[in-house]
Amino acid sequence: MQTVVSFSFIDLLCVSLDVIMKRRTIGIMGAMPEEIDGVVALLSNCKVIEIGKRTYFSGQINGIDTIVVFSRWGKVAAATTVTTLIHEFQITELLFTGVAGAISPALKIGDIVLAKRLIQHDMDARPLMKQYEIPLLSQIYLESDATHLTIVSKAINALIESESLHEVIGEASLTKFNVYQPQLFLGDIASGDQFFSSNKQKNILNEQLPEVLCVEMEGASVAQVCYEYEIPFSIIRTISDTADDQSHIDFPSFIKKISSKYSAAIISNIFQEF
Ligand code: SAH
Repeated sequence: MQTVVSFSFIDLLCVSLDVIMKRRTIGIMGAMPEEIDGVVALLSNCKVIEIGKRTYFSGQINGIDTIVVFSRWGKVAAATTVTTLIHEFQITELLFTGVAGAISPALKIGDIVLAKRLIQHDMDARPLMKQYEIPLLSQIYLESDATHLTIVSKAINALIESESLHEVIGEASLTKFNVYQPQLFLGDIASGDQFFSSNKQKNILNEQLPEVLCVEMEGASVAQVCYEYEIPFSIIRTISDTADDQSHIDFPSFIKKISSKYSAAIISNIFQEF
């Protein structure tokens, strides 16, 4: 039996234009509702779409189609949100911004970590497979996209060089959190469904995975979905706390004063380079 497939002239024109212009739609996930507002403000022609208890803001930044959404917290929530971005909004790239607790003693509050690799610290299917190995993927680490890393590093460095930082955050907040010269670190981020708030938790992770710079609750699950759907991604985390007995004290006011402003500034810088 012969199947006849017919395309209209318009269909063919749209496909060809998409290919020629390499259609891009950028998904931006923020792990804090406070961060989302600043990023949504960058959108022109903003439309609001509600799906599955999430609010997606669709529009353009510098003429590039962009969807912004609060990830919600934890691995399942964030994986579901990024899957919706892929299926409903056909994103072609993903940027994730949020806060994290420091695991490496080299990190200070206000530093920024850009993930080179991500690992799920609570994944453990032993004795069926190695500790941390993701079932069916046969790998422990998920790698970020190299081209994105170059662009995003440049955008972060443009923020933390001192003049622009003082303009964006303001002197009083920088002094309050002792943020004097924030640094950008490129390395491993660990994710899991736990908020780290004790020295014991921190020490165990540090002993088991000494290369991990910081800990959070979404990045590696988003990375897994992006890897499976071949979507280049970058996970950007500002250090909000020290992931120990002090973490719940540092956390809330840091979000309000510092990290929400970092995110919009970094995203805006990234789109200058895109
Ligand atoms: N603001 C909420 C808590 C948010 S959950 C409240 O006060 O109730 C914590 C968020 O911060 C998640 O996005 C997680 O990825 C990140 N995070 C920051 N510090 C963390 C830490 N010490 N341990 C784990 N996740 C941390």
